[in-house]
Amino acid sequence: MRRRPRPSSTRSSLPDSDSALNNETGAGRVGIIVAAAGSGSRLGHPVPKAFVPLAGAPLLAHALRGVLSTSGLSEVVIVAPAAHRGEAQEVAAAVCREVGSRADVTVVVGGAERGDSVAAGLAGLSADVGIVLVHDAARCLAPTVVFERVLAALAAGAVAVVPGTAVVDTIKQVDGAGFVVGTPERSSLRAVQTPQGFRRDVLERAHAVSSDATDDAALVERLGERVLVVDGDARAFKVTTPDDLEAAARLLGTS
Ligand code: C5P
Repeated sequence: MRRRPRPSSTRSSLPDSDSALNNETGAGRVGIIVAAAGSGSRLGHPVPKAFVPLAGAPLLAHALRGVLSTSGLSEVVIVAPAAHRGEAQEVAAAVCREVGSRADVTVVVGGAERGDSVAAGLAGLSADVGIVLVHDAARCLAPTVVFERVLAALAAGAVAVVPGTAVVDTIKQVDGAGFVVGTPERSSLRAVQTPQGFRRDVLERAHAVSSDATDDAALVERLGERVLVVDGDARAFKVTTPDDLEAAARLLGTS
């Protein structure tokens, strides 16, 4: 069923899927924003990071395999660079065919910073989406189990959920001159990943104040809302450098 037309979007003609989460919580449909509009300058590649090839397909295609294989996600908003909007739509249509997804996919154009891109994605969601996941295309091998874990915590009543892993290094806080000003207790630290999940009204309130943060949970924390950390997964690492791209290729068995 077609919900409503969204302005300035490129759509694939894919019907929506049912959502167990919607049925359980009555919170509306579940949408996901896939942030894919970064330049990825640290990767040293001429094309934006989400469109860099990995094992014969762009990073975005790998990321969408995890997204579109997750049951309960009925709407996907991909945030892409203006020049790659058409390519993003083609990649999504191909992955939908490959995994048999009936999700509703839209592509919108991103902004200068990641937060601006997520805000653009939020504006592209249908009115009946009540639960929103935000995912970095750069975490292209995040497995479906992480999406499911985040959705399960939201279905159980959390308003904001992030996947995280324990840190192995001791972390120091330093001042501008490089001197240590503190050593947080390591056992209380988590390295957080995406997909991060939110009740839509909470995420929209957070972005209405500011989109300036390196993750969306930080914006929600500023509202005073409680953010739950669930188990992340090593495969959800962010491809940032050429070494990360090699590690991803190794995980896929192609290097
Ligand atoms: O910059 P960084 O690698 O941390 O970006 C994380 C994710 O945010 C990537 O998937 C990237 O494509 C996305 N991003 C974006 N718009 C920006 C900057 C980053 O969608 N302006």
